[in-house]
Amino acid sequence: MNLLSVKKLTVQYDGSEALHDLSFDLESGDYLCVIGENGSGKSTLIKTLLGLKKPDSGSIEYNGLTSAQIGYMPQQTDIQRDFPASVMEVVLTGCLKANGFRPFFTAKTKEFAKKNLQRTGAAELAKKCYGELSGGQQQRVLLARALCSTEKLLILDEPVANLDPKATNEIYALIDKLNKEHGITIIMVSHDIRCAAMQAGKILHLDKTLVFFGDTNDYINSPEGRHFLGHEHL
Ligand code: ADP
Ligand code: MG
Repeated sequence: MNLLSVKKLTVQYDGSEALHDLSFDLESGDYLCVIGENGSGKSTLIKTLLGLKKPDSGSIEYNGLTSAQIGYMPQQTDIQRDFPASVMEVVLTGCLKANGFRPFFTAKTKEFAKKNLQRTGAAELAKKCYGELSGGQQQRVLLARALCSTEKLLILDEPVANLDPKATNEIYALIDKLNKEHGITIIMVSHDIRCAAMQAGKILHLDKTLVFFGDTNDYINSPEGRHFLGHEHL
């Protein structure tokens, strides 16, 4: 059964279209990589999927989850990088819903936060100051935070931006594990075409409207895919 169904989606800013007539479906357990040039509508799609931006026409339907149940890992800004809080505090901000919006976190919620730090290989960082971590460690913490709000769908915006190659590979391996071993559906925006060619099962290529949607292998062999990926990357 479809987890997500996007139909004829059109989204405008002040009358100018950022997305036009976009349709695609995702099934539970899919791993989708969203690619396209700057300004092609990737972030607009993410904002609309999260319910932060209203469609001008068309529809987005989730089957069995609300937009509040989506785990979201935003692109990091420099301010967030220096966030003056402990790792545990950062992860717990992802647990507000699981905690029933009570003013203090319950022991059960703290256990859940710890479990998600373990899942992202960051358990030993719990007591550290977030701002003192490396970029790769911070991304692990933000992934754990996103996992606190979902067991079903994770939306990641440029999760490896500014990471060195080793940390990049580790984060990709972790996302792949969350998808394959834990069955979490992934929607990942990336400039890095390697993710598309290497591990995402499905590709959505945008240029304000749909350029390609389908299996990664079909994309690699399509004219659009060959043009965008460039032969040297494969
Ligand atoms: P991408 O994430 O692929 O780089 P965006 O979704 O951010 O693309 O942008 C798509 C188009 O919408 C661009 O032309 C951009 O200038 C425009 N746009 C994005 N955000 C806004 C905004 N808040 N106000 C007006 N125009 C915007
Ligand atoms: Mg963007």
